Amino acid sequence: MKRVLIPLIIIIALWQVSAVAQQRAAKAVVLIHAGRLIDTRGGRVVENQGILVEGERITAVGSWNEVRGRAPASARLIDLSNETVLPGLSDCHTHILLQGDVTAADYDEQLLKESIPYRTIRATVAARSALMNGFTALRDLETEGAMYADVDVKTAINRGIIPGPRMFVSTRAFSTTGTYALLGYSWELKVPEGVQIVDGVDNIRRAVREQVKYGADWIKFYADRRYYMKDGALHSWVNFTDEEAKALVDEAHRLGHRVAAHAMGMEGIDAALKAGVDSVEHGYGLNEELLDRMLRQGTYWCPTIYTGVYVAEGRAADGRPIYLEMRDLEAKIFGVAVRKGVKIAFGTDAGAFPWTENAAKEFNYMVRYGMTPMQAIQSATIVAADLLERPDDMGAIEAGKYADIVAVAGDPLKDITRLEHLNFVMKGGEVVRSELGR
Ligand SMILES: [Zn+2]
Repeated sequence: MKRVLIPLIIIIALWQVSAVAQQRAAKAVVLIHAGRLIDTRGGRVVENQGILVEGERITAVGSWNEVRGRAPASARLIDLSNETVLPGLSDCHTHILLQGDVTAADYDEQLLKESIPYRTIRATVAARSALMNGFTALRDLETEGAMYADVDVKTAINRGIIPGPRMFVSTRAFSTTGTYALLGYSWELKVPEGVQIVDGVDNIRRAVREQVKYGADWIKFYADRRYYMKDGALHSWVNFTDEEAKALVDEAHRLGHRVAAHAMGMEGIDAALKAGVDSVEHGYGLNEELLDRMLRQGTYWCPTIYTGVYVAEGRAADGRPIYLEMRDLEAKIFGVAVRKGVKIAFGTDAGAFPWTENAAKEFNYMVRYGMTPMQAIQSATIVAADLLERPDDMGAIEAGKYADIVAVAGDPLKDITRLEHLNFVMKGGEVVRSELGR
């Protein structure tokens, strides 16, 4: 009897699974009426548009009358006719496993006193608040000692267990012995490391393979430390030898993964570019020569302005006045990079400032420092989608792409700070926030 029953149970189970799959495939159709739609590819605004969504993707975009005509009668209508509609935003530099580290003690306390499970629980809240603020994708650039917990958060989001953005994670990041927190404790103590410490070309190649094995989408390393000013420029000490940094980038690329380098001072940025990284993070010490090299190499810059502003005074008071200089240097060089046409991807370093802050505040600084509001929006949408190697899935409201759509009352092209007050967020065709009419 059992021999007959078990295959039968399996068949029924499989049939139920396929029924669920079919139900999903025949997901309700949603018709969105967009009053104004920001075309991030064309850099323009189009009025009175229709967006047809089937399942998790957009299937049609066009004039309201035309798209409405194509929609089935069963389509659910979402009326955004009084709003400005734009693609979901991407923050290309976050730390969901960090809850603010203005002072060195803030950082050490989290690694010393909070378990990785506790930090991961908090990370799920961070991921949720990012999504509610309109960030439908995050490139999370290292867990700060929380090992591979970012991969677990990503898995939980992808399985629908918790709400959150599409995650592009870098796991543990790399630095060399003696160059990254926690530092300054008695040699008798074994304290946690904020990164994976690795020295030597062979060890580096093996370590890159290990991070990829456990789920890293991106590889990140810290190119420099010990920042100082000399002759009006920001300098730094370089962490890896050229040979080591090249091996790291080469191994990541060989495995099909891109590389982000934390690089603040001139020497660090120079070393990162020599190694062939895909993105320079922070880059406060950039100058014309380095920007020209980034242009030639096609390297992205992720400026993380808001965190620089947020932590500057607190870090100065904590004995690191260099952060005031970094903040002011970036305000000057940002406009130069924009004029040169360097690829600038929106990234905030959220997590260095607490997740109770809305990372969309970055937009206001990008515009104050020299971008048009449209350029700032493009950096968080279409440029970010390219950096993340997902140009067919994200970054614009177009047929075939994920239905990652946000909306706001008013015109963010006139007042970019409107983006701090979205009233509608859809990710993959599901409405995750709607406060229309309020
Ligand atoms: Zn960071």
